[in-house]
Parts: sequence; structure tokens; C-alpha cells
Amino acid sequence: MVVFECVACGAALTVPLTQVDTPDHARVHQWGNGVLEMPGLVPPGTYAGHVIAPGDVRGVSWIKGRLVGYCCGIDGHEGPNLACGCGRPVATRVDDCSLWQVVRFEPDAVRAVGDPDPVRPWETFDWDSVPLTDADRWWQARAEISAAVALVRVLAVAADASVVVPDGPLADTFQAGLTERGSQGPRTLTLGLAGPGETSGADVLLVPRHPQTGDAWPVPGRVVPISAELWTWLARADEQPVRPRTGGQWAPHLDDDPLPRRPRAVKPCEWTVRDMSKRP
Ligand SMILES: [Zn+2]
Repeated sequence: MVVFECVACGAALTVPLTQVDTPDHARVHQWGNGVLEMPGLVPPGTYAGHVIAPGDVRGVSWIKGRLVGYCCGIDGHEGPNLACGCGRPVATRVDDCSLWQVVRFEPDAVRAVGDPDPVRPWETFDWDSVPLTDADRWWQARAEISAAVALVRVLAVAADASVVVPDGPLADTFQAGLTERGSQGPRTLTLGLAGPGETSGADVLLVPRHPQTGDAWPVPGRVVPISAELWTWLARADEQPVRPRTGGQWAPHLDDDPLPRRPRAVKPCEWTVRDMSKRP
């Protein structure tokens, strides 16, 4: 684990943290409008780049005049709002509505010290199930953003070719967007999944990113790395738990009897698709 410390005075500014793959939703500044109780950008106890969960910061204080926001909290648009005990501005806390809650360190103001966790072998992660539970109301948002990122990258890889997707979760998620936004030229490419336990002869392969390092699953060919969470959902169509697993019935499923075994569909987030067309 590593601890981020102030480069000016050496004070520890976090609890010990483990690296995780940078989530796709890190690139989405805003989710919806006026959405309260947004989750952390990364899970507690982890970091991705210079991003940590707000509860993991230590030894900092607010910078007066920087505690500004648009609506229900602080959006950090005026720059760093957290200072080390020595006075150096070191990070920006964001917690306004519709914004993923986060503390972003200034890269030049901190350094990571300690021993990073050894990189876990691929096979030590669970690639057979997605822990959908009724407590994780943000799964769908994360998956839709990841699907949008994947869609845009598949379109970029395909260039002037049209993309054909086999029936199943892959087609349910991507075919409409690929048909709508992609080339309709005579040259066609097929899209498939490759990763733990999965091989494919498709022209373009969706492969998982390593949950810790973000490295792509090593396979030759044209690959589009996607989040491990989305990859598992796409690849393990028959191994999903009932949702919700316990408790009451979620609003999207009030009319469903029996409950669906999987979320109905993952529709690539339009906001993310549009944003990525401006900032690929
Ligand atoms: Zn300091």
C-alpha cells in the first residue's frame, strides 16, 4: 500500500491505499441534474492516479474562499480547496450534487510513498459473476458510462467499416449505437469478447482491463479494453444473480413478475458518447 504525502513538508495526507483501475466514470464530470447522494469516484481505501475517496484524506484543512459550489455542495471550480498543515494547497474536494464525490490531489503537490501492492494475477479476480445487489444502485450508471466509452472506441477502431455484433448481451448493448453512428460502408468487421475463459475469432475484441492496473487483457489483434465490471456482465450472460437479490422491488421492476435475472439492458450513456466525441 502507499500513502500520499506533501512534497513540501512530508506530512502524510492519506490512509494507506491500494491502486485500482481508473474508472470510466472518472471522465464524466456530471451525472444527471441535481442527483443527491452521489457515490465516491473510487471505493474507500483505493486510489486511481491522484484521485481518492473523500474519507481517506488526512491532515488537511479547508482553504477559505474556495468552498464554492453550484448547488448542494462544493464543486471545486476555483481550484484547490484543501491545504496541508504546512499551508500548501494540495487537493480539491468535490461533493456537489450530480458530481462523483472525490478528493483530487495536485500532482505536483504530493508524492506516493511506501510499497505498492504486488500486481495480482488475472486469475485471482472473480470473472464469473457481477455482485449486483439491491444496495448498489449505481451499477447501472457505471455500466452505461463504460458502455459509452467502449462504443466510441469501437467506432474509432472500425474507422470506415461497419461493425456486426453477434446476438446476445453484446448486440443488445452495442448494435444500435454502432448502426446509428458507424460507417455503413461495404467493409464489415465482427465484434467479439476475449478475456479470462473467453476466446473469439472476431475482428475487433472487447477485452477486460486489469482491475488493479488498468492493463488490457493480453491478446493479439485489434482490441478495445473495457472495464472489468462491464466485461464480466457481457461475457457471463448466464451467471447473473436475480436483481434485486433481497428486500423490496426496485422501481424499474415494479411490473415484473418474475423479476428479471439481469438488468434489462445496458444502454450506452448518451452524455458520455457526446462528450467523448469532443474529448476522445
Ligand atoms: Zn505540507
